[in-house]
Amino acid sequence: MATPIRAHVIVGGFPPGTHGGHDMDYARLQILQALQADPRVNATVSSDFTDCHKWIADCQLLMTYVAGPYADDHETGVIRDWLADGGRWLALHGSSGGKAVRLKGSADAAPDVPTPGLGYRRLVKTSYHEALGGMFTSHPPVQEFQVDVTDSSHVLTHDLPSSFRITDEPYMVQVLHPETKVLLSTIDIAPPPPEVQTRYGGDLSLLPDGQSRALGFVREIGKGEVTYIAPGHCNPPAPGQNERFQGPWKTPAFERLLENAVSWGTGVEG
Ligand SMILES: [Zn+2]
Repeated sequence: MATPIRAHVIVGGFPPGTHGGHDMDYARLQILQALQADPRVNATVSSDFTDCHKWIADCQLLMTYVAGPYADDHETGVIRDWLADGGRWLALHGSSGGKAVRLKGSADAAPDVPTPGLGYRRLVKTSYHEALGGMFTSHPPVQEFQVDVTDSSHVLTHDLPSSFRITDEPYMVQVLHPETKVLLSTIDIAPPPPEVQTRYGGDLSLLPDGQSRALGFVREIGKGEVTYIAPGHCNPPAPGQNERFQGPWKTPAFERLLENAVSWGTGVEG
């Protein structure tokens, strides 16, 4: 019998029990189905990073899809040690978010969408973002845009076309460490509006080439690796409507990315 592979999945919004604007039930199912394709995988599930140490200790792979939850300094330290010891963390979409603070003088508002008359909140960079290697800053509304595969030699981009189009929230994420390998990028989205740049002190998601923005990247930590993939928005039906948004999840490219991520996280690629 093949050696079991342990994977832990964290999918959830904030406050606890809410969806955080995303179809968490759908995303959780998709991730679990992707893991189930490998019969060796034995998965556990949480809704946030509380007691993360309890679940990842014997894991090879951690997969996260969250909107609001993030690991506190203690749990981040546990995750960092686990990575250094060979763990692999795949962080999807809202996993680059976290705690937002209200800017002085502004009322409460979504951190990513300017709300006329309500002002802004701004994300706070924590040890969690340092470990992940990226921090969400903002995103324009859902739109179709082109994703370019920047590095086609990595297992995570195996069999992806050199570029593909998706309809998604174009996440703008600051890459925090120079040793990061960018796998996916785009030049197809407009810079953040001036008020967003003012909030964060510049156009922080712009890569050193001055024109592209990272949408997927990987970084080694000791014997392990952490990967962040920005696409992946999905949301439940709006009140009074039936239609769910699953944009990128229904595309062959994103399906391939998820398959590749499971291969990467379970060591199939050797
Ligand atoms: Zn989203």
